[in-house]
Amino acid sequence: MLTNRSKQVVKREMTWLERAYFPAILSGMAITFKHIFMRKATVKYPEQTREFAPVYRGQHVLKRDEAGAERCTACGLCAVSCPAEAITMTAAERQKGEESLYREEKYASKYEINMLRCIFCGLCEEACPKEAIFLTDRIVPSTFERDSFIYGKDKLVEPKDQPVDVSKRQTPAVLAFKNDKKHKHNRTFLDKVLPKAKHH
Ligand code: SF4
Ligand code: SF4
Repeated sequence: MLTNRSKQVVKREMTWLERAYFPAILSGMAITFKHIFMRKATVKYPEQTREFAPVYRGQHVLKRDEAGAERCTACGLCAVSCPAEAITMTAAERQKGEESLYREEKYASKYEINMLRCIFCGLCEEACPKEAIFLTDRIVPSTFERDSFIYGKDKLVEPKDQPVDVSKRQTPAVLAFKNDKKHKHNRTFLDKVLPKAKHH
């Protein structure tokens, strides 16, 4: 014996009442009946949804700047910081006349996130020096095809006419960053988040 906590199990004979199983059936049904009147722990998803926490991390968005140009400069920091190696991209040089499309001289001609690999940790968002990538409160929809979980720029870049609001995810650190005049070119949602800040 290794310890003195071991107990000998005695296999006693069941009584006739126990052998009839009625008490066990009745107590099981009583538990079921009790739960009919209790508040349900589940919701009828997807018809019903629960309110998400403001810090919920869901589907990513690649943001545009105030003029509608893509903010991402294909620096690769998000991909390097990603613990799941879910991000891949191809960098390209901005050509003359494309200034309204891409904010920096270098941009991502291809940017993909494998949503099956992603663990929604948010490290890509924290690593981005251009405030180009944010996680949002949108759920990645389920499908039957694995390939459709590779999200390209068509699904990630926000539409020009329907900007995705990420102001809830502006942490104190991000706000401090925006307040630093050195980084003023990086400000997003200036009017909403920093109403008293001067535009330069
Ligand atoms: S949320 Fe985390 S796992 Fe998902 S792409 Fe960003 S860094 Fe990678
Ligand atoms: S999203 Fe941000 S970190 Fe990732 S490549 Fe673009 S600029 Fe760099």
